[in-house]
Amino acid sequence: MTDTPSHGFATRAVHAGQEPDPSTGSITPPIHQTSTYVQDGIGGLRGGYEYARSGNPTRAALEVQVAALEQGADAIAFASGLAAEDALLRAALKPGDRVVLGDDAYGGTYRLLKRIHEPSGVRLDTVDLTDPAAVEAAFAEPVKLLWIETPTNPLMKIVDIAALAAVGHAHGALVVVDNTFASPALQQPLRHGADVVVHSATKYLGGHSDVLGGVVVTSDAALAEQVRFLQFAAGAVLAPFEAWLLTRGIKTLDVRMRRHTENATAIATQLAADPRVERVYYPGLPGHPGADIAARQMSGAGGMLSVALAGGERAARALAEGTRIFALAESLGGVESLIGYPSLMTHASVRGTPLAVPENVVRLSVGIEDVADLQQDLADALDRI
Ligand code: PLP
Repeated sequence: MTDTPSHGFATRAVHAGQEPDPSTGSITPPIHQTSTYVQDGIGGLRGGYEYARSGNPTRAALEVQVAALEQGADAIAFASGLAAEDALLRAALKPGDRVVLGDDAYGGTYRLLKRIHEPSGVRLDTVDLTDPAAVEAAFAEPVKLLWIETPTNPLMKIVDIAALAAVGHAHGALVVVDNTFASPALQQPLRHGADVVVHSATKYLGGHSDVLGGVVVTSDAALAEQVRFLQFAAGAVLAPFEAWLLTRGIKTLDVRMRRHTENATAIATQLAADPRVERVYYPGLPGHPGADIAARQMSGAGGMLSVALAGGERAARALAEGTRIFALAESLGGVESLIGYPSLMTHASVRGTPLAVPENVVRLSVGIEDVADLQQDLADALDRI
């Protein structure tokens, strides 16, 4: 089947870039586990491939698939989400340029900007991107790149992509959205005006906690060419087997995200009614400050939520260590439920910065297990605190 943009999301997820192997009929595209390609005479490339750092058919198949899902012209797949972010920042910025980042974001993104790019001359400011006055103040000075995460990690703030893209473009900024938490099944930022989407493909795209990867997606041809050149020159490519695992995971993205959302909604509702929980951060709950924007730009609130415990740090740590089905682990987005204590785990690198996470907060990555089992697990762990 040939993919066309008119096909629905789930059809594109299964078929885009996933042609059966023409030489054998294998319905599943093969893994091209090779470092180089035979040439018919010098420069006589059979399929356009020369060496695995510059290109690999399995990686290319993934790139076509992700570009089709995000409705972008091009996608470039990297060895991790941070490798993708780093290549994008190197391609887009030069010394003296200023970056504005949301004040709640993945700690590693802040660390990359603060400890790698700031010492090279890039300037960084963090701003509450849900506060229009703060955004206006941030744009009083030139901004080269606006970095949006929505929903944010871990406090689940919702940033209005279309509104922020309009502000960014009015000031000549490149607008980047980290779409890791929502995945393209629930949110497609390029359609709301963003210039670039980045992913930690490690999370929902892969979906099975068995692969590390990252992707940059854009319809800006010059930027895509620059990112691709940087990848070729610096070498942070995604390996063929990891690319294949991602193409496989993505085929079920649509059904997984529906189930993640269904389970997370039930759990958020349960926890919101529990007096031991001071606050639930989940954009699918009616009282969430970004619920209206989420309803506009997302087709579901997703599988991530955080809770602040009334019993403070002690209770939060006890909950994180007290569940039996939710496994205590870094990362998110897999079929299995995970629980984490951000201030000492995923966000340990931002302790003492404007992005520090409150010490009574626990983050849940709600998996696709039976929701009654997950709810019982949390209820039991809360009882044991
Ligand atoms: N962006 C977000 C929102 C993340 O949660 C993460 C990792 O947790 C990353 C980027 C970095 O991705 P990776 O761990 O694949 O390098």
